[in-house]
Amino acid sequence: MQTGQVIKTQNSFYYVQAGSEESLVACKLRGRFKKERCQVVTGDRVEFEVLPDGTGIIEKRLERETLLRRPAVANIDQVVLTFAAAQPDLHPLLLNRFLVLAEWSGIRNIRICVNKIDLLPGDEGGRFLALYESIGYEVLRVSARENIGLDALRALLPGHVTVFAGPSGVGKSTLLNVVDSRLELATGRISDKIKRGRHTTRLAQLLPLQAGGWVVDTPGFSSTELEQIEKPALAGYFPEFRPFMNGCRYNTCTHSHEPQCAVKAALADGTISEERYEAYLNILQEIMERKKEYE
Ligand code: GDP
Ligand code: ZN
Repeated sequence: MQTGQVIKTQNSFYYVQAGSEESLVACKLRGRFKKERCQVVTGDRVEFEVLPDGTGIIEKRLERETLLRRPAVANIDQVVLTFAAAQPDLHPLLLNRFLVLAEWSGIRNIRICVNKIDLLPGDEGGRFLALYESIGYEVLRVSARENIGLDALRALLPGHVTVFAGPSGVGKSTLLNVVDSRLELATGRISDKIKRGRHTTRLAQLLPLQAGGWVVDTPGFSSTELEQIEKPALAGYFPEFRPFMNGCRYNTCTHSHEPQCAVKAALADGTISEERYEAYLNILQEIMERKKEYE
């Protein structure tokens, strides 16, 4: 029995890479998987057996660290939230929505990458990002077009399975192509096409990088997924809120209208920023409106 990782799936074949070998083993699932409803998706680590004809049979799926849906990819351990300094403009609320999705997904390494800094003179585009660095997020300022900051981006990738998430048009495909010229992604391919064709299933693939590590050729998550977050969990996806969450008078505190709220006290003394608190209220509101629809 060998252990490997599913790199892509196609026509009920699962292409598994084991060890450092270049070749992939085309595997089928052992029949009992269907009965157990235990699905195998791209990124899953599996145990498989190689048959005399060179194909394989997946016997077991190993435990997942993370799972993104739409399309499904398991075991992503790094997300590069990609935005543009301009065209389209970077708005704090949009950035915060993606940060919340990234925190919710359980991916350990969350980075912010601002592309197209060639379009803005000086550091105008990224000035407000100091706040996010102070929270603990690494922020990269790059230009795929002018070849600025790309080594720092490249240095993040070896040893990880990374997804470049973010709105369409910010330059995710362009960036990946300049980070690793072997990728040859059609520009715009990583863009969020899910909205355009709701019923077309996009399957994800892990793409190997020359320097080691993998990138996933999907936009990661769509902001409609915010709907799945439960109201009490939301504050926990704002890392700098966490130290205060247990200090509120009411343990059901939503940190919005309640008296003696430790989060609001931290806002008042400047420990928590207004920008982040406003984003929190905004997303909370969205979650509550969705709840009303179902009641
Ligand atoms: P995606 O939808 O995020 O994959 O974005 P694309 O890679 O398709 O890029 C969208 C547009 O932005 C294209 O017209 C690119 O040429 C342009 N673009 C990408 N990177 C840069 C950059 O660093 N500077 C400028 N000015 N334009 C860029
Ligand atoms: Zn509170």
